[in-house]
Amino acid sequence: MPSQLTARPSDIPLNNLYNLLEPITVSKDNVRFTNWGQTFVCTPSSIFEPENEFQCELVLELARREGKTLRVAGVGHSPSDLACTNEFMLRTTKLNRVLEVNTEKRYVVAQGGITLNDLHAQLDKNNLAMINLGSISEQSLAGVVTTATHGSGMAYGVISTNVMALSLLLADGSRITCSRNEHADLFLASICGLGTTGIILSIQLEVEPAYRLKELQQSLPFDDVVQNLDKIAHSAEHVRLWWYPSNGTIRCSYANRTDEPKKPAGSWWWHTLMGYHVVQLFLFLGRYFLFLNTWVANFACWLSSGDTVGIDDSYKIFNVDCRYPQHTTEWAIPYENTLACLRELRDYLDKEYQDPDGIRPHFPIEIRFSASDDIWLSPSSGQRTCWIGIVQYKPYGFNVPYRKLFQAYEDIVVQHHGRPHWAKAHRLRPDSLRTLYPRFDDFRRIMEKVDPSGIFRNDYVERHILGKPLDPRVYKEHS
Ligand SMILES: Cc1cc2nc3c(=O)[nH]c(=O)nc-3n(C[C@H](O)[C@H](O)[C@H](O)COP(=O)(O)OP(=O)(O)OC[C@H]3O[C@@H](n4cnc5c(N)ncnc54)[C@H](O)[C@@H]3O)c2cc1C
Repeated sequence: MPSQLTARPSDIPLNNLYNLLEPITVSKDNVRFTNWGQTFVCTPSSIFEPENEFQCELVLELARREGKTLRVAGVGHSPSDLACTNEFMLRTTKLNRVLEVNTEKRYVVAQGGITLNDLHAQLDKNNLAMINLGSISEQSLAGVVTTATHGSGMAYGVISTNVMALSLLLADGSRITCSRNEHADLFLASICGLGTTGIILSIQLEVEPAYRLKELQQSLPFDDVVQNLDKIAHSAEHVRLWWYPSNGTIRCSYANRTDEPKKPAGSWWWHTLMGYHVVQLFLFLGRYFLFLNTWVANFACWLSSGDTVGIDDSYKIFNVDCRYPQHTTEWAIPYENTLACLRELRDYLDKEYQDPDGIRPHFPIEIRFSASDDIWLSPSSGQRTCWIGIVQYKPYGFNVPYRKLFQAYEDIVVQHHGRPHWAKAHRLRPDSLRTLYPRFDDFRRIMEKVDPSGIFRNDYVERHILGKPLDPRVYKEHS
C-alpha cells in the first residue's frame, strides 16, 4: 500500500481518509456558519479547516467519494448566502501564509485564505502595499478576488484587476496555474468566479511601494455634488461619497498619494463613543419610534460635518468603520447613468420622507467609482462604473425592516442597467444577467467544463448562474 503522505488522494482507503481528515474537522458542536452581517445562517454537514494544500485535496476527495458538494468559505463577510451550504464547507482560515514577495517586480504570492489585514502587515514589512482597497480589510484575499470586491477611483479597477496569476485546485483533483497568458479563459472566469471554478490555493497579486494617502473630507449639499459630479469624481485618485438623504448632505472624501508625514484625523470621543455607541442606541430606539431614524441620521451627519484632513498609511485611510451587523445591497451602474440614477433615488426617498409612515432609511448611501475592466463577471466589465450601496443596520443584532426599501432601490438601479455586487443578496437570474454580461455564457461554459458534476456549487450559484428555481430565503436569518 502506498504511504498516505505520498499517495494520491484517490488511492487512500476511505477509513484512512477519515483518519487523515480528523485533525482538521471542526467539532460537530461548532458547525453553524453565520455571515458577518448576521443575515444568513447555514449548518454544513461537516466543516474542514485544512492547514496545507494536500489536506485540501483530501477534503475534495472525501466530497467526491461521498457525493457531497464542497463550498469554500473565507471569513464569511459576504452579505448573502454566497458562502453558505448544508453539505461540506472548507474554511480557509489556516491557509494564510505569504509565499513570495518580490519588491523589484512589485508582486506578492499569498495563500487564498490570508486576510487583507495580515497581508497589509506582511507587505508593510517589505515596504509594499495593495494598489486599491475597499472599506474593510477583514476579508480573505480569495474572497475579495472571487467577488470582484472594489474600492474607489476612476482610474482604479476592482481588486481582481491586480491579480496576475492564480493557483487552483480543480474538481478532478488536479492543480493548475492560470493567468492572462496561461489558461486565460479559466483565469478571466475565476478572478470573479464566485468560488465555482476551483479552490483558489494561492494568488499572485500586483502591489506597489508602500504609500500614504492624504484624505480631505468635506460635506456638500446633494445638488452641488450632482451638478459637479464628473468634476468631483475625477478630482482625486480615490473619491468616495457618503450621502445622508435625511438632510440632503453628501460627505465627500478625496484621497491622493502623498509624501507628507502622517497626521491621522478623528478622535475616540467622536468616532467611538458618539459615532458608534450613541448612534447604535438611537438606531435601536428607531425600531419603535420612526422619527428617531431621521434624527439619528442627521446626528451622524453632523458628527462628521466639518472639513477634515487626515494623512496615514494607505490601508488606514481606505478602511472605514462599517459599524454594526447589517442588511446591505450594492449595485454597479454604468458611470454615464449616475446622475439620472441618483436624482431618481433622491425623488423616491423625498417622497418617503414626506409620507408620515414612509421609510426612514439608515445611512449613509455609499457612492464609489471603478475603472472599466475585462473580467467576465466583474460588474465593471466593459464599463466605467458607479457603485451605489445602501444599508439597514441591525442594532445590537436586532432586525429592522429592509425589504420595501431594498425592493424600491433595486427597481431604480435596474432601470439604470445596474449589475448587482455578487457578494450581496440580489434577485437577478440568468435571463437578466445574460443581457448585462456579454460573457455570461462563456463563464457558464468554463464553470461546467472544469466542474462538470457541480461539486463547487451551492444554492446561490444554482439560483443565479444556472437559474434553478430555488427559494432565496433558505439560509435567511429569521430574527
Ligand atoms: C463590512 C463589510 C464591508 C465590505 N466592504 C466592501 C467594499 O468596500 N467593497 C466591496 O466590493 N465589497 C465589500 N464587502 C464585500 C466583501 O468584500 C466580499 O463579500 C468578500 O467576498 C468577503 O470575503 P470573505 O473572505 O468573507 O469571503 P466569503 O464571504 O467567505 O466567501 C465569498 C466567496 O468567495 C469564495 N471563496 C472564498 N475563498 C475561496 C477560495 N480560497 N477559493 C475559491 N473560492 C473562495 C466563496 O466560495 C464565496 O463564493 C464588504 C463586506 C462587509 C461585511
